[in-house]
Parts: sequence; structure tokens; C-alpha cells
Amino acid sequence: MSDNTKIIESVSEFLAHAIAMEDESAEHYEMLADSMEIHNNDEVASVFRKLMKYSEKHADEVHDLAEGMVLPNIAPWDYNWNCPDFPEGGDCSEMVNYLMTARQALDIAMHNEIRGRDFYAWVARESPDAEVRRLAGEMADEEQEHVDLLQTMLERKDLSSEPPLEDLDPPNMPEG
Ligand code: ZN
Repeated sequence: MSDNTKIIESVSEFLAHAIAMEDESAEHYEMLADSMEIHNNDEVASVFRKLMKYSEKHADEVHDLAEGMVLPNIAPWDYNWNCPDFPEGGDCSEMVNYLMTARQALDIAMHNEIRGRDFYAWVARESPDAEVRRLAGEMADEEQEHVDLLQTMLERKDLSSEPPLEDLDPPNMPEG
């Protein structure tokens, strides 16, 4: 992501990126949670709901920090969620909505948490502005906690041996 993203030089620019990223995360965690509920996996759904709340809380905190500032417009496509093995910048929302095992859902979440963490870590390292570096460092630490949480779920044995889910299309039942 850092390849095509320009160096973030100001706090307002950083906050605009953070809001875009956290909103995108919250939205996708909601989709993942809904999908897991459809598959009756309430445990994984509740992890996604928790991560959705974290993203919303983050976005709120960033909005508070941004009060009174004029945030620049940024290119939102840089912050769209990706799916693993999906072309960078491709929209995999459909995949997020459609037939997923808990493992696939967790892989998608993990992939994007790592992207988020790496983005924040990159800003924390490279920004010329000390306050931007400090804020980004805090965000990177929090994203690392999300990565760890997902890792714990992914390492569970019952998950790695999970059979693929069958298509949920309703069976062709004769009427009456
Ligand atoms: Zn996160």
C-alpha cells in the first residue's frame, strides 16, 4: 500500500486517512458478522462484531481529534478492503457477502488488519511530522492487537479442520 500512497505530512491528512480506513473496516466487519450469522457461526460472528465496534470507536476518536480541522479529500480506493488472492484495488465485497467458511472470513479480516497495521506503521516511520508519527504509532499498536485476536481464532483446531460449507441456496422442495 505504501508504494502508491504519498507520504503523509500533516495531522489533518493523517486523520482523513484514518477515518476512511476505520469506516471501511467497520462496514466490512458488519458484512462478515452478518455472513457468519447466516452460517450459524455465532462465535466468529461475535468476534467480527467486536472488531466492528473497535473500528467505530476508532473512527469516533479520530473525529474528535479532527474537530475544527478541515480534512482533505483523499482517494478512497486506496483504502478499500481487499481479499487475499484478489487483485489489489479489486472490490471483493461480493466475496465478503457470499458463501464463506469461518476460515475464509477470518483470512479476509486478517489480510486487511495487516494492511491497516502496515499502513499505520509505515506512516509512523516515514512521516516528517512528529505528531503524525505519534498518532500513527498508536494506531499501529491497536491494529496489532486486532491481528493478534484474529490469529488466536485462526489457530484454533476446530477451525482449521472445518469442512467447506455447502451452498445455502434453498433445496428444490416440491410445493405443498
Ligand atoms: Zn483493526
